[in-house]
Amino acid sequence: MSIAIIYITNKGLCLAQKIKGFYPDAEMLKFNAETVENLWQDTKTFVFIMASGIVVRTIAPFIKNKRTDPAVIVLDETGNYAVSLLSGHSGGANKFTRELAGYLGAEAVITTASDTNNMPSIDIWAAENNLLIEDWDKLPQIAVRFLNDGTLRLYSEIDMPFPEGFLNVAPNSADLLITNKKSIKECGCRAKEQLYLRPKNLVVGIGCNSGTTIDEIESAVWEVAEENNLSFISVCAVATIDLKAKEPGLVGFAKKYGLPVHSFRADELNSVKGVKKSKTVFKATGAHAVSEPAALLFSGADSLLVKKQKRGNVTVAIAQLSGKQARLFRPGEVFVVGTGPGGIEHITPYAQNAIRKADAVVGYDTYLELIPQLLRGKEIHSTGMTKETERCRKAVELALEGKKVAVISGGDPGIYAMAGLTLEILKEKNAADLPVEIIPGISALNACASRLGAPLMHDFACISLSDRLTDWGLIEKRLESAAASDFVIVLYNPKSRGRVEHINVARDIIMKHRTPNTPVGIVKAAMRPDESIAITNLKDMLSHDIDMQTTVIIGNSKTLVWNNRIITPRGYESKLKQTR
Ligand code: SAH
Repeated sequence: MSIAIIYITNKGLCLAQKIKGFYPDAEMLKFNAETVENLWQDTKTFVFIMASGIVVRTIAPFIKNKRTDPAVIVLDETGNYAVSLLSGHSGGANKFTRELAGYLGAEAVITTASDTNNMPSIDIWAAENNLLIEDWDKLPQIAVRFLNDGTLRLYSEIDMPFPEGFLNVAPNSADLLITNKKSIKECGCRAKEQLYLRPKNLVVGIGCNSGTTIDEIESAVWEVAEENNLSFISVCAVATIDLKAKEPGLVGFAKKYGLPVHSFRADELNSVKGVKKSKTVFKATGAHAVSEPAALLFSGADSLLVKKQKRGNVTVAIAQLSGKQARLFRPGEVFVVGTGPGGIEHITPYAQNAIRKADAVVGYDTYLELIPQLLRGKEIHSTGMTKETERCRKAVELALEGKKVAVISGGDPGIYAMAGLTLEILKEKNAADLPVEIIPGISALNACASRLGAPLMHDFACISLSDRLTDWGLIEKRLESAAASDFVIVLYNPKSRGRVEHINVARDIIMKHRTPNTPVGIVKAAMRPDESIAITNLKDMLSHDIDMQTTVIIGNSKTLVWNNRIITPRGYESKLKQTR
């Protein structure tokens, strides 16, 4: 479970319901020590609405360590205070407390020293930079030293900006060592207290015979890394030949450690100069070598850290990522999220979560202004309406740098919106490996139809009157065909300041095929505070206010109006008669 809200009293339940409004996938449960015990292992965040004494007594026996314990937040019943009680940093309780307090207008109570002193916390800073902490037990003493001294001495083999108070020093006097080397040999007496942070920057090139087991591949990679004084924790990706991309042992090994597998064609591998060639490998695969050129190609490095090593059925070569990626290797992700017609209540819980998960949010400012609650604390890139190409490019670039990026589309992202453009830009950048998820939303046609009654009960055609990207001649042709075929017609982008005539022309084309009394629904700003709804007909429709926030729905020859609702009969008439 992601979030459990635990309450005791009825007043607590009211507050729990309010909180659930912000986190729709949270579960509300009445307090019971056994319930908490059962949920402890698999729940990411607990929100308790009760006295902190009850919480402390209840959770005390289950607390293990800051790496695995869930975030625990306590609220008083009136919702005046939100206290971050446990796992403030790595569990995310401080961040959650601030966010929740923001929603509720409560005061956030944070007691972690680094937060109250405005100093960066080492574990959060490490996580943000994708540096893995090797030994968590050493963290507290280094964090205390940092707080007391105001400076943190570190040695880094990665070129990256450091926050204020972080001092670059030689390895033997550093508290923190940022390196993919297992140990830095020249370190002297303080080595025991030193904490290693591991950058994810080693690419392992692997070749193997068919049927090689996960265990054999795993031992080979561990052994080769150890023998060459490299930390296995720094491995960020596996590279191989396309023939082996689905090899079960290789795929299983990569999956076990959450590593992406990148594969190359034989001709790509053969284009790499200066690698050791093998006749047997060439005979079997068409490539002169696999592990060495694959590691070099994916890492972008000029040379290998470890040349090909053979262990039984496996060959291993290791290279270090070069360039910008070297610091921040973490596969980014793009969510193209549909935020529906208006406010937060019409966004699916799944889409809300995707926005919450994102590091950066990219979108058209009008849409972003509708969902401020979801955007706090995020990197925001908002631009005007016609800048969608720039927005999408920015989103893809951020994701390629390793960020989780939400591209926001009003309505549904796959309808006259950002989904197609995002995929086209990924295609242009040849970024087939970047994970992308398109998350649907309620489109204007769903929202507007529901406000009007049931106009889309039969086949309909959806036509955009914007000729910014489509030739007007083609739009007229489609209007003509849809009207002639008696489709219900939904018009998006009906009118803008630069194109006031289009809606008139469209109406005249449709009028050629339909009677002047054909019902027409006009919905402006559906499900937003300034919503307006008009039910009219083809003859009179142009006397109504129509703009770019409006969708127009024109009925077919059977469409009727009853009780201020538009109905397009589905064909139930005879069934209705039979069952009357
Ligand atoms: N992806 C969006 C459509 C983008 S095109 C979707 O699926 O809804 C923009 C057009 O959508 C607007 O010109 C208008 O015709 C329509 N539209 C978007 N939101 C609307 C709303 N809340 N009410 C009425 N029409 C809307």
